[in-house]
Amino acid sequence: MGNEPVLKVAINVPLSRLFDYLPPAGGSCPPPGARVRVPFGRQRQVGLVVAHASGSDLPRDKIRRVLEAPDDAPLLGDDDLWLINFTSDYYHHPVGEVAAAAIPALLRQGRPLNPLLRHVAATDAAHSFDVEALAKKAPRQAELLEMLLDAGGNGVDVESLAEQIPAWRRSFRALAGKALVTEFDLRADDPEPPSRGEAVAGPTLNADQQAAVGTIRAATGFHASILDGVTGSGKTEVYLHLIAEAISAGRQVLVLVPEIGLTPQLVARLRSRLGIEPVLLHSGLTDLERLRSWRQARNGDALLVVGTRSAVFTPLANAGLIIVDEEHDHSFKQQEGLRYSARDLAIARAKHLDIPVVLGSATPTLEMLHHCETGSYAHLSLPRRAGAAQPPAVRTVDLGRTASSEGLSEPLAQAISAHLAESGQVLIYLNRRGFAPTLICSGCGHVAECPRCDSRMTVHAREGRLRCHHCGSARPLDEHCGECSAAMRPLGEGTQRLEDELVRRYPRSRVMRIDSDSTQRKGAMDEALGRATRGEADILVGTQMLSKGHHFPKLTLVGIVNADQGLFGTDFRSDERLAQSIVQVAGRAGRESRIGEVIIQTAFPSHPFWQRLIDGGYAAVARDALDERRAANWPPFSRLALLRSAATRRGDAHEFLEVAATGVNRLAKGGLRVLGPVDAPMARRAGRYRAQLLLQSTDRRLLHAVLRELRPMLEAEPAARKVRWSIDVDPVELF
Ligand code: ADP
Ligand code: ZN
Ligand code: ZN
Repeated sequence: MGNEPVLKVAINVPLSRLFDYLPPAGGSCPPPGARVRVPFGRQRQVGLVVAHASGSDLPRDKIRRVLEAPDDAPLLGDDDLWLINFTSDYYHHPVGEVAAAAIPALLRQGRPLNPLLRHVAATDAAHSFDVEALAKKAPRQAELLEMLLDAGGNGVDVESLAEQIPAWRRSFRALAGKALVTEFDLRADDPEPPSRGEAVAGPTLNADQQAAVGTIRAATGFHASILDGVTGSGKTEVYLHLIAEAISAGRQVLVLVPEIGLTPQLVARLRSRLGIEPVLLHSGLTDLERLRSWRQARNGDALLVVGTRSAVFTPLANAGLIIVDEEHDHSFKQQEGLRYSARDLAIARAKHLDIPVVLGSATPTLEMLHHCETGSYAHLSLPRRAGAAQPPAVRTVDLGRTASSEGLSEPLAQAISAHLAESGQVLIYLNRRGFAPTLICSGCGHVAECPRCDSRMTVHAREGRLRCHHCGSARPLDEHCGECSAAMRPLGEGTQRLEDELVRRYPRSRVMRIDSDSTQRKGAMDEALGRATRGEADILVGTQMLSKGHHFPKLTLVGIVNADQGLFGTDFRSDERLAQSIVQVAGRAGRESRIGEVIIQTAFPSHPFWQRLIDGGYAAVARDALDERRAANWPPFSRLALLRSAATRRGDAHEFLEVAATGVNRLAKGGLRVLGPVDAPMARRAGRYRAQLLLQSTDRRLLHAVLRELRPMLEAEPAARKVRWSIDVDPVELF
C-alpha cells in the first residue's frame, strides 16, 4: 500500500489549492480526469482528480480515502485538464471552481455520464386499441397515447414529454389504468450520430473571401486570424467553407457565438449549408440536454459544436478548428465568479491544441488589431459587402438646431415616413429600456433615486412603477415630490416612450419593441426576431439586442436616437465601445439590394469622434484610439487586473483593499502601478459599498507572479471575511 499514489483532487470550494486523497479501498485507482466522491470536512463532495502524486505534505495516515469513483474512464482528457489548469492560473481563480464551471451541472452533482432516464411508452395492447373512439371522450389521453405509439418501443423520456405536454401525468395515469402505457428506466445512450444530409450550395466566394480562406487553409498548426469584415461582407460564408473543410478532414469544429447570436437563423443556415445537425450549447438548454451535447462533443459524434461563452470548455475528441464570431462582443467575458474571457481562452486552447482559430468581427477589438499590427495574428479583411449590397449612407442630425419631440427629431421623423412609404423597414435604436430614465420634480428638481444604489430609478410607465436597473428594486411611481409636493414628471426617453411616440406618429405602421423587458418570456426573443426578419413589423424600436448580427432583409433605415451617451465616457474604452455599437447597429441597414440610410442624432455633431467615424469608419476610430492607448499606456500596451470588494460598510470594503495594496507593493517591490483603493464608479449598489484597486503593468509576467502570491494571502486574510472580493484579470468593465 505504501506506493499507492496520492490523488490531487479539485473540489468546488473557493480555495486556491488541490486536496489530497488516497484511492478508494478495494477499487481501482481513479485516473486524472475522473471524478471522485470524497469526504470533505463533515460533508461529502464530488471532486475531479487532476493529477497523481507520489507524496503529500500530510502523513499518509492523515490522508482520507476516496469513497467512490463514479467514472469508469476519465471524463476529461489531458488537454481538457490543461485548459482547466491554465484558466485557474491565468485568472487566479480556485481550480476546483474552474473545474466545476467546465463541466455540466449533472456531472458536477455526481450523476453518471449516461444517466438512467425515466421513460414512458405505449404497451403492446395499445396497438390494437381504438384511439379514435378515445379521442371523442378523452382527447388529452388520446393525444398522449398517439404520441407514445408514434415514438415506438423506447417511448419518450419524461423530461422531454413534460416540455411538450406539461400536464401529461394525469392522462398517463388514466391510460395506465387501462394497461395501455408503461413506465421504465433507460440509459441515455446517445442516438446514432445523424447521417449527413444534403448540403445546399452557397454563393461562390469573392476574391476577398477566397484570400481569407486561402490564408487560413495554408496555415499549419496554431494560427490566429482576425476576420475583419464589414457587416454583411460574407464572414459567415468564410466560416462555412472552413467548417466544411475541417469536417471533411474528419475534425470537429467549435464555434463560439455571443449570447444572443445563437439564433434560429444561424442554426438553420449551418444546418442547411453543411448538411449536418449542429450540436448546441447555450443557457436555454435543460441540464439533460446540455449533458447530451457535452457527451456528443466529448466522444466525437458532434462534428460541429456551436455554443455561447462556457462552451469554450467543452471537451472535443478531435478538434480541428475554433471560430469566435463577433469577437468584440462583451458576452464573451464572464462578469462574475470566474471572470474569464471565452475569446481569450479559445485562443489559448487553439494554441495548446496546435490548431487554427478564426476571430470574426466588423468591429474588432483594439487588443486583436494590435496583435495584427505586431504580426502575431493574421489580419484578413473583407472591406466590401458581399453580393449586391452597398454600404449605408450615414449622416448626423444636430439636436441643437432641429425641433424634436419625445426624442425624435424632425429630420429623422421625415426619413422614417419616406422609408415607410417605400415599404422599407425602420430600426430605431436607443440603448435605454423603460419609459424614461428619470422621474423629476417639476417644482424643486428632486429626482427619484434607488434606496439601495447610487443611481436613479427608471420610469416604467405601463406598470406604473419605478425600477432600478442595477439592483432590480421597484416601487410604485411617486405622483408628488416627497420634498415639495409638486408633481413628478418623467424626464428623457426610454424605448417604451419612443414606442408610444412612434405608434402615435405612424398609426398605420406596425411598431415592435425589442428589449430585455419585451423578451423576458422564454422564446419571446426568437419569436420577435422571426417577425422582424419576415417583415411583420414596419418599425423596430429597441436596445443593443437589436444591433447584434441579425439580418433583417427589408430594413433600410437605422435611426440612432441618443448617440451621445458614451461620447464623454471616462473609461479608456469608451470610444472603441461607442464606435462598435454604432457601427454594429448601422450595419443592419440595407443588407440586400436597397441602399440603407443611417441617421445619428447628436447634440455634438462637430465632435471629432463623429467626423472620424463617418469619414473613416470603424478602422479610423480604432487607429486613433490605439494611438491614444499607446500614449497613455493603457491596454493592449499594458496589462490590467482589478481587485474588487463589496461590503455593507464602506470602511470594510476599503480596508480589505488597503491590505491587498500593501501586499502588492511588497510583492512587486514597486514594479506595478497600483491605483486605489477608490470607491467604484457606482459606490453603492444593492445596499453594498463597492471599492476597487487597479493594478497595471507592462510586464505581464510580473503582474501574474504577484497575483499568484497574492491570492492565497487574501484567502487567509481576516479582513476578507467582512467583504465579497474578486480578482478580475483583463477587466472589460472598470467598475
Ligand atoms: P457577415 O457574416 O459578414 O455579416 P454573411 O456571410 O451573412 O455576412 O453574408 C451577408 C449576405 O451576403 C448573405 O445574404 C450571404 O448569403 C451573401 N453573400 C456572402 N458571400 C457572398 C458571395 N461571395 N456572393 C454573393 N453573396 C454572398
Ligand atoms: Zn420637489
Ligand atoms: Zn438599485
